Amino acid sequence: MNRRDLLKSAAAVSMTGMLGSTVPALAQQAEKKQAVLKISSQDGRIPGKSLREKVEKLEKWGGCGLEVGGGGLAGRVKEIQEAIKGTGVKVSAICAGFSGAPISHDPEERKKAVTTIKEILKSAGELESTGLIIVPAFNNQTTLDNKEGRKILVEMLPELGEAAVQCKTRILLEPLNRGEAFFLRQLADAAAICRDVNHPGICMMGDFYHMSREETSDCGAFLSAGKYLHHVHLASWKRNLPGQDERSFVDGFRGLKMIGYQDYCSLECGCVGNPEVEVPKSFEFLRKQWEEATI
Ligand code: MG
Repeated sequence: MNRRDLLKSAAAVSMTGMLGSTVPALAQQAEKKQAVLKISSQDGRIPGKSLREKVEKLEKWGGCGLEVGGGGLAGRVKEIQEAIKGTGVKVSAICAGFSGAPISHDPEERKKAVTTIKEILKSAGELESTGLIIVPAFNNQTTLDNKEGRKILVEMLPELGEAAVQCKTRILLEPLNRGEAFFLRQLADAAAICRDVNHPGICMMGDFYHMSREETSDCGAFLSAGKYLHHVHLASWKRNLPGQDERSFVDGFRGLKMIGYQDYCSLECGCVGNPEVEVPKSFEFLRKQWEEATI
């Protein structure tokens, strides 16, 4: 075969390949569910004397998800179940709360992380949570480099993923910005870890605050996360309520719509002013930005 024939046959193969891959891709597109904006909040962001009062306010303002911390969660399961009972609010993600660090240089700290993550997963499952948020290591928690840390994490995750699936929940890896964690900063990196681990219990999330420091495109970041994305944190540029500074969510919401996102978008932020006034205003702002995100 001469060079000309080789090029011709390569073109034929690539055309067949294109047709072969385009048709299922289009079919998949048609099956994809339409994305929904399900607003959630960490419990600390909503004003109220009791958790029940917070849940009632959250629902009145149009929220439907409650995110709680994982620290001491076993002792709070009943309280949380009571607080959401009879309302339209469900538990969204559980935010960390474990001891140790999954990619610590110290094997004892890694062991501590695995044990305590498994304990929290049990409570997360009882609360029918969408997943437990995990940061592999903050900057002060490991001396390992990126290559060593990734190897340890990929080896550790199947066991945690299995524990999560047993509890009918998930692990959600959270990329942070370099000021907090040099390891795992971009959504595509978290997605590549999920792909390599290839376990239904190992998924990920995105946080608009960290994304504003690390991503070149919110939409692109969510597209690269795709099917692995199961939670989103919301905060403005200065890490206050969405709408309290110039941070736009439209480009990111466009990405969520493109992947048919079905999980929660949850407030993890401060508040300038009275939360009784500012939180409902922020929810309204988010709904408006969602409408503006046309695809
Ligand atoms: Mg976050």
